[in-house]
Amino acid sequence: MARVFNFSAGPATIAEDVLKKAQEELLDWNGTGMSVMEMSHRGKDYVSIAEKAEADLRELMNIPAGYKVLFLQGGATGQFAAIPMNILRGKKAADYVCTGSWSKKAIAEGKKYCDVNVVSQPEKFNTIPEVSEWNLSADAAYLHICSNETIEGVEFKELPECGEVPLVADMSSNILSRPIDVSKFGIIYAGTQKNIGPAGMAIAIVREDLIGDALPTTPSVLDYQKQADNDSMLNTPPTYTWYMAGLAFQNLKKIGGLEAIAEINDRKAAKLYDCIDASDFYANPVDPKYRSVMNVPFTLADDSLDAAFLDGAKKEGLVTLKGHRSIGGMRASIYNAMPEEGIDALIAFMKEFERTNG
Ligand code: PMP
Repeated sequence: MARVFNFSAGPATIAEDVLKKAQEELLDWNGTGMSVMEMSHRGKDYVSIAEKAEADLRELMNIPAGYKVLFLQGGATGQFAAIPMNILRGKKAADYVCTGSWSKKAIAEGKKYCDVNVVSQPEKFNTIPEVSEWNLSADAAYLHICSNETIEGVEFKELPECGEVPLVADMSSNILSRPIDVSKFGIIYAGTQKNIGPAGMAIAIVREDLIGDALPTTPSVLDYQKQADNDSMLNTPPTYTWYMAGLAFQNLKKIGGLEAIAEINDRKAAKLYDCIDASDFYANPVDPKYRSVMNVPFTLADDSLDAAFLDGAKKEGLVTLKGHRSIGGMRASIYNAMPEEGIDALIAFMKEFERTNG
């Protein structure tokens, strides 16, 4: 059966080359006669896989010395709690920008551990207020943003300048989509199941001077210092997901790294937004300045056609286009691994559906 184009927001498409490599190595990794899944995480074969994944990620993102790269469990949601537990450093409050559904969840979790100042929240989650309008507080332990709101399709295009306060970013849905300056961040974190590989892991890139002073109640598995001291192997890590992430990093390097993928991503997104904007039949509600390059929500002018649209798309092999249940409509998630042909096929279908139903 031909592979379909899967527009899921996560777990999401994995590049075919990555899946094929995993398939090739499934039963016998590198002549060991063993699957990666079966290896001891402390054995030299697995440790070499884990170390290569970290080295490749450091190279791809140009992660400076002075940052730890941690491979953790509990997904990005685990990090919502881990952040305040690890980096309040005696302070009582933290600043959060609320730009959509995932910011809201981070805020709700953060409130369990500290006083949360919501420094900015637009009336509707379709834009990002200017940084000059944010109500930043002087005593915040950190400033948290969600760099790409997966549900609403709203993405930061520039980094907020926030002085000395460490910037913490949930990059779950746009990590590795373009080059960024890691040195501008205190912490970057992301679940792996969107732009990296399978579910089951979160990656946290943490500035070393921020760690080592976790709340005493912090579970050891979420304690950045303890995990760093144990090379993210304080307990058994999600070994296969870590391996798959490593294959994705190798694949990204092969196609030219983040500059190359950014160019492809921009082209893919521009095509799809152009198709939406060119018609009165489809609409995207997001301020064009902040439209996400990764998640493209759109609506049909007549929502009674939604089911027919989804049905027709599925027949063309275009699946998981239904929008998030909280906002309805459609959503095309077009992460790094979505080939450009997938976008072209979606656009061709959208035009044909409009022609026959418009
Ligand atoms: N943050 C963002 C931006 C997300 O898109 C998601 C998942 N959709 C999460 C956090 C939560 O991730 P997880 O399911 O890994 O906890």
